[in-house]
Amino acid sequence: MRIGFIGLGQMGSAMAANLVRAGHAVTVWNRSPEKADALVRAGATRAGRPVDAAQGDVVMTMLADDHAVADIVFGEHGIAGAPALHVGHSTISVALADRLAADSGAGGYVSAPVFGRPPAAAAGTLFVVAAGPEAALDRCEPVLATIGQRVFRIGDTPSAANLVKLSGNFMIMAAVEAMAEAMTLAEKGGVDRRTLLEVLTGTLFDAPVYRTYGEILVEDRFRPAGFAAPLGLKDMTLVDTAATAFGTAMPLLGIVRDHLRTVIATQGPDVDWAGIALTVRDGAKLRRPPP
Ligand code: NAP
Repeated sequence: MRIGFIGLGQMGSAMAANLVRAGHAVTVWNRSPEKADALVRAGATRAGRPVDAAQGDVVMTMLADDHAVADIVFGEHGIAGAPALHVGHSTISVALADRLAADSGAGGYVSAPVFGRPPAAAAGTLFVVAAGPEAALDRCEPVLATIGQRVFRIGDTPSAANLVKLSGNFMIMAAVEAMAEAMTLAEKGGVDRRTLLEVLTGTLFDAPVYRTYGEILVEDRFRPAGFAAPLGLKDMTLVDTAATAFGTAMPLLGIVRDHLRTVIATQGPDVDWAGIALTVRDGAKLRRPPP
């Protein structure tokens, strides 16, 4: 398949590499062009402008936020109106996904946000949540199967996939907050974090979110960030906007969002979003290693 890939950050570069490895003809574009170098060496073609990456069958975007996606689609040399089917993987607002669907032009638009951190992107084991017109989903299914271990097709309204993704990210943050509070409590009472995690994941909490983030918390793996706290704050802000739009009170959301703000202010923007555990520990005056 002739695939364009735009946005070669932590996630996008790994996803694009898997597409090249699978034998697709991949054309790549990134705002900072040097991030395309390794992919070009691996066999990808470099596009001069975003629109040049959208002349094939499918163009996938994996960009930071709403602003970046709107720029790449509707800005100068943007992909709006290009022939390729636009498959959007970024975590963006429900409102922007609705706009992308409405203004997608001839190529069409599918929302396909993903669950999984950069190592899962590199291993091709992401979970993909896809929504859009059935024929468009059929067209991109083989590509989605290359980047992910499982593709959930959840309907024909693209923004529904974004709502699922935002809900999931809220639940990840809530799980991290809960683990951080429990680990801090246990540690202040003389039980180490690893012991607590081993018991809990070995009993009632045997789920990937507790295992993956539990290890990060136990080992203080907050740098380099797999998912930077400012992107996490962006997501919680998008959840808040959706909660207002749909009239849903989310008191837990306020707690994790403020903890993200605090950890960015105290640790800097390069800290992982799981670094909210540091804020929880600080609140309990639990000694921690220097950043
Ligand atoms: P990242 O490493 O920060 O990469 C962001 C990408 O967006 C880079 O290619 C960056 O280009 C580009 N970009 C930012 N602003 C732009 C603009 N105004 N115009 C054009 N390009 C722009 O982020 P990431 O971790 O790969 O995340 C990408 C998306 O996936 C985000 O929506 C994130 O929420 C979502 N996500 C992340 C994870 C994770 O664990 N990391 C998991 C699931 C979903 P430059 O290289 O030039 O800066």
